[in-house]
Amino acid sequence: MADFYDEENDLIIEDVAEEEKDSDSEKQSEDKDNEYEDVCFVCRRPESKAGKMFKLPNNICVCDDCMHKTMESVSQFDYQGMLNDPAFKKDMDQIMKGGFPNIRFVNMSDLQGSGGIPNKQKLKKKKKAEDTKPVLNIKDIPAPHKIKASLDEYVVGQEHAKKVISVAVYNHYKRVATGTMDEIEIEKSNMLMIGPTGSGKTYLVKTLARLLDVPLAIADATSLTEAGYIGDDIESVVSKLLAAADNDVEKAERGIIFIDEIDKIAKKKNTNSRDVSGESVQQGMLKLLEGAEVEVPVGANSKNAMVPLATVNTKNILFICGGAFPDLEDIIKERLTKTASIGFNAMLKDAFDKEKNILSKVTVEDLRKFGMIPEFLGRLPIIYTLEGLTKEMMVKILKEPKNAILKQYQKLLELDEVKLEFNDEALEAIAEKAMEKDTGARALRSIIEEFMLDIMYEIPKDDNIGSVTITREYIMGIGGPVVDIRSNQNASKKEAETKE
Ligand code: ADP
Repeated sequence: MADFYDEENDLIIEDVAEEEKDSDSEKQSEDKDNEYEDVCFVCRRPESKAGKMFKLPNNICVCDDCMHKTMESVSQFDYQGMLNDPAFKKDMDQIMKGGFPNIRFVNMSDLQGSGGIPNKQKLKKKKKAEDTKPVLNIKDIPAPHKIKASLDEYVVGQEHAKKVISVAVYNHYKRVATGTMDEIEIEKSNMLMIGPTGSGKTYLVKTLARLLDVPLAIADATSLTEAGYIGDDIESVVSKLLAAADNDVEKAERGIIFIDEIDKIAKKKNTNSRDVSGESVQQGMLKLLEGAEVEVPVGANSKNAMVPLATVNTKNILFICGGAFPDLEDIIKERLTKTASIGFNAMLKDAFDKEKNILSKVTVEDLRKFGMIPEFLGRLPIIYTLEGLTKEMMVKILKEPKNAILKQYQKLLELDEVKLEFNDEALEAIAEKAMEKDTGARALRSIIEEFMLDIMYEIPKDDNIGSVTITREYIMGIGGPVVDIRSNQNASKKEAETKE
């Protein structure tokens, strides 16, 4: 047995161990280098911006763009002409005889050190997010009622809108998954969403994109202008989507683009000047909405020489346009009274004034009158409206959605072991205050934040506080919240225990 453990053998084993150690440390340092992005030696952009790099000796990397530019300028040079030039020939003779006069060569890699650009000047690579499963999988798109059920968890009311959006999204992604069907090409389900401000238009789209786990770009139509004018050109929305998809073109091509304030690019009435921001932007959007190949800059808003371009096909991108369309109600009312005022059943002029959801009666004709061009409307086949929020809906928004504002505050205070409660009258008072502001549900958060500030400031001061109940009086500023002291609770608990 002892033979197995002779000195030599020991030595050999050690050697192997040492070698392993060496290769381990090499691997580790390589791993460390891999944590950093390569940086282009010429334009200094990192790999995530400039794309794959050409690796040259001495750890020098050059991006695709710079490599191309170098190649181009080299190929444009007239070598043949140069070689025939007598002055050049004379110089060359001199060089052949005695080297370069007064010129010393500098080795670029010496300047850089052997490691190329040092790590401290590089960006760290983004860690890959763990693959999370989307709630709704677009590859195996669930039936519309399931999509709506998921939306229900977050969005209060707006039943009609949720139904329409669920069916449209279902059809859209079914179309994307199957490609074009034989001769019958399914039309794209781009949507136009009409609803007062703060009624949840953006929120609905955001929730949808999150549930489907598709990239979403939100753009404002007011900032868009025709290419060549100051402002974002129309294709910049696709560039935003590409950024939201982490520069993954394939992912971006299944994404959603939401263009808000679409009513602001209505054709202006009675103008003789060239309409830069309105009609022409609508015209410019036609090709995007329908499906086109657009070249967009990667990682930047504008095309310029330094930014690489990617081609994105918008055929499968779902476009949702949204706007409040003020004054549209008047146009609808006018139409309704006109049709109703013919014949014996003529109605009074103000018959529709009291009607609540008059917006839901909108037709394409009304929108055309508002200033949207017919070609544009033709590319948004699904038109639906969102209701203005009522007091009851506001109360529900406060407490019901999965991520309701009240739940968020309750969770925060729970971490301090304090129970936060709102009684029903308090919720109503908050809703009433929000209704006055006329900015929809957006007002709720600012109101709550205003009076929760004191509570969030005072409560951590006192360890004895066990629960806080917000009352209507507190919201109206005529009283304070009901505070329960923990020691009382504990004391009464203890009392009960001792009695037992
Ligand atoms: P807009 O219609 O002007 O785009 P938003 O979608 O931005 O309005 O709504 C503002 C906020 O109000 C959202 O972030 C969301 O928290 C809340 N909200 C609005 N409507 C609803 C709703 N129906 N259900 C739940 N929350 C809503």
